[in-house]
Amino acid sequence: MPGLAEHWGHGVVHCPYCHGWEVRDEPIGVLATGPASIGHAYLFRQLTEDLTYFTHGTDLDEDSRARFAARGIRVIDTPVTEVVNDTGGALAGVRLADGQVVARRVVAVAAPMQARTQGLEGLGLPVQDLPKGRGFASGTAGATEVPGVWVAGNVTDLVAQVGASAAAGALAGADINSTLATADTDAALHAVAEASPEAATR
Ligand SMILES: Cc1cc2nc3c(=O)[nH]c(=O)nc-3n(C[C@H](O)[C@H](O)[C@H](O)COP(=O)(O)OP(=O)(O)OC[C@H]3O[C@@H](n4cnc5c(N)ncnc54)[C@H](O)[C@@H]3O)c2cc1C
Repeated sequence: MPGLAEHWGHGVVHCPYCHGWEVRDEPIGVLATGPASIGHAYLFRQLTEDLTYFTHGTDLDEDSRARFAARGIRVIDTPVTEVVNDTGGALAGVRLADGQVVARRVVAVAAPMQARTQGLEGLGLPVQDLPKGRGFASGTAGATEVPGVWVAGNVTDLVAQVGASAAAGALAGADINSTLATADTDAALHAVAEASPEAATR
């Protein structure tokens, strides 16, 4: 979508919990990407009374249309062709395929998420489909199938916010520490056994 990326994190937002305060009471447009955008719209409706839902080629069933109408959410089915700026460079709205510009200060997009795995391919970590996107597979406390590699945060939990990511990092750190403590003890026992086989079996 031309113009969308340059406003990412400012005029273009993905998360009502991350950006809700900043975008409250603004004219917001939800640019639909699929079924998840319907629930996204309900969340952003809690933040503004001026919400427009651009179906942009996605399905919007009659029940959802009725629910949107009940909440005063305007629906536009004409596809969006670009995000337009004001003279100062701030997001000013979206242009539709018929040329009409719909004024908006904020566009919300439920974009699919993809963990940044570039540069880590050499580790051979399995990548898998996760809720809302793709990331590294992990088990308890962030352990992976690859010995010596733990993962934590968005690389394996795409919807984790700062608190959850930091907590996952702390949990992985504790698991790594526990693994190393056990390894040190194993090594010490091995050294004792090497030096004195009788002592190790006492
Ligand atoms: C626009 C936006 C707004 C947000 N607002 C909020 C908010 O208000 N509150 C909230 O709780 N959460 C918010 N989040 C979510 C929050 O950013 C994440 O939950 C958090 O950053 C995840 O932490 P992390 O350590 O897992 O990943 P990151 O913070 O992404 O850290 C990963 C780091 O690894 C680096 N890296 C990647 N690949 C390599 C490599 N190969 N070698 C070395 N380094 C590498 C990256 O450059 C990055 O610095 C927001 C997210 C976005 C995108």
